[in-house]
Amino acid sequence: MEVLNKEGIKPVGYFFNPNIHPFREYERRVEALGTVAEKYHLPVIWDKKGYDLDSWFTAIGENRNVHKRCPECYRIRLEAAAQQSLKQEIETFTTTLLYSRYQRHELITEMGREIAHRHGLKFWYHDFRQGWQKGIDMAIDSGIYRQPYCGCLFSERERYKKREKRLAQSLSDTQGG
Ligand code: SF4
Repeated sequence: MEVLNKEGIKPVGYFFNPNIHPFREYERRVEALGTVAEKYHLPVIWDKKGYDLDSWFTAIGENRNVHKRCPECYRIRLEAAAQQSLKQEIETFTTTLLYSRYQRHELITEMGREIAHRHGLKFWYHDFRQGWQKGIDMAIDSGIYRQPYCGCLFSERERYKKREKRLAQSLSDTQGG
């Protein structure tokens, strides 16, 4: 928001995240954006589909591996942002995905530009990762919830990979096998 304000851009937020599971996590992130929107006087469009994990799992299909599912997940969300821009008659869009140090930044940029071009729109690029630590500090100071994993159930599982292995081992040991 600081970067956009400095550039004289007045953004409209769009919340569309069928990739955030389970429901309580989705709800927490909705609440967090609500707090941010209030703090920064940001108008937000909340996608009507809401907690739409069914369509997300259908779109991902068998592409569960991180290298396959993430590009598809980016595409779903960037495409939705482009569609919403067209609907609102806003010619330029960007994405909060460009803030993450954990996402495939170059791929997101390339995809954003390609999707924007296909729809006769513009993709606004900025390396928001430069404000990574500042964003964390500001969220902590303001008591805004910070996500502990990317979003989908697969990413939540990957977060606990070591614990999952330890648990499996201890269960196996308990059963003598
Ligand atoms: S890890 Fe994140 S970007 Fe990748 S599929 Fe899951 S929610 Fe989408």
